[in-house]
Amino acid sequence: KEKTSTLNTTKSDAIFKAAQDILPGGVNSPVRAFKSVGGGPIVFESVKDAYAFDVDGNKYVDYVGSWGPAICGHANERVNAKLKAQIDKGTSFGAPCELENVLGQMVIDRVPSVEMVRFCNSGTEACLSVLRVMRAHTGRDKIIKFEGCYHGHADPFLVQAGSGVATLGLPDSPGVPKAATNTTLCAPYNDLDAVKKIFEENKGEIAGVILEPVVGNSGFIVPDKSFLEGLREVTTANGALLCFDEVMTGFRISKGCAQEYWGVTPDLTTMGKVIGGGMPVGAYGGKREIMEVVAPAGPMYQAGTLSGNPLAMVAGIETLEILGEDGAYEYMDKMTTKLINGILEAGKAAGHEVCGGNIRGMFGLFFCAGPVKNFADATNSDTDKFARWHRGMLEEGVYLAPSQYEAGFTGLKHTEEDIDFTIEAAKKVFARI
Ligand code: PMP
Repeated sequence: KEKTSTLNTTKSDAIFKAAQDILPGGVNSPVRAFKSVGGGPIVFESVKDAYAFDVDGNKYVDYVGSWGPAICGHANERVNAKLKAQIDKGTSFGAPCELENVLGQMVIDRVPSVEMVRFCNSGTEACLSVLRVMRAHTGRDKIIKFEGCYHGHADPFLVQAGSGVATLGLPDSPGVPKAATNTTLCAPYNDLDAVKKIFEENKGEIAGVILEPVVGNSGFIVPDKSFLEGLREVTTANGALLCFDEVMTGFRISKGCAQEYWGVTPDLTTMGKVIGGGMPVGAYGGKREIMEVVAPAGPMYQAGTLSGNPLAMVAGIETLEILGEDGAYEYMDKMTTKLINGILEAGKAAGHEVCGGNIRGMFGLFFCAGPVKNFADATNSDTDKFARWHRGMLEEGVYLAPSQYEAGFTGLKHTEEDIDFTIEAAKKVFARI
């Protein structure tokens, strides 16, 4: 897209231009390239608390937070102190260390479904491993996922995964063989009848159902409680497993994750982002009798050279410690509710069709009248307007996720002043887009 921005991005532009010759598309993860909003990405120099600083000297209130991990604020002093102390003891053991027990026990104590946990290195790894658990435990191959839910980039999940092309049963990406996705069955989110129908048509063949218990990868979409309760019932009735992918919602929606918030306990849970406090971590866990299928307790193979590494464990432990303190989630709820209500009011006052909401520190905004209950609804949003909104907010010093199909995140370091500043910025931007 043509650049008309008032923002000085001279150095960002030069670095991104150079990156195009070095990294495919100039990035190491596609969304960072700002392809769906245009204008070129902002290259970061440093981050602190609720702020990001770019290489051109611009400062932004950051509502991406490294896509979730920065929930206690960027470069949190307490997390950093633990990391610094750990570095001198070594960065990777590839052998058991007690820190794994400590973080593991914290997860078990907080997350209703988790009696045993296995740490890995990313959300993608957690999801592909939990899929193997579902299949190994049930002896069945088929799974049900939902349109617009993202579970990392393992082959079987690249079917209608977030903003990908909506082609029924066909892989979203070249390089994914049909054989890898023909056991992946897709249903619209919040549509229990569609799920029941799939179960009827595939009796005794479905290993499990996986979903985001609050969607972040089609933009922010809230489940109907009855949908989650219905999934719990229909999976149990059919001898299938229910997995909540809490890579995004885990320890963000509530101390005990979205499953505690909704009062629906799945059989299995995947985690990531927050649990590593900014270091690369993923995890999956569930009932003991299910998790004991994992090697070396059981026959299902899954491994990792860097899994449970001490840096990731200390960052995760300290992050969960901070989030365990009184008032943490209430604070995030208060700030984020004020933020999204302020933005929605400003948008409507300026004559735009907008809808959105939040749960605790996760929020979203669509440029349509709503309600948005599933991915198809989300595609009604005016993505051109979203692109103008996104650039406008950057110009005003606010860093939002560079896609209509992503959620926003706040954290414990976003102050009331930051929220007021952001709402004022929104008023200016809504007036000119
Ligand atoms: N599941 C969900 C719900 C996610 O939001 C993501 C990442 N955004 C993943 C899985 C994959 O995690 P990662 O990027 O760490 O591989």
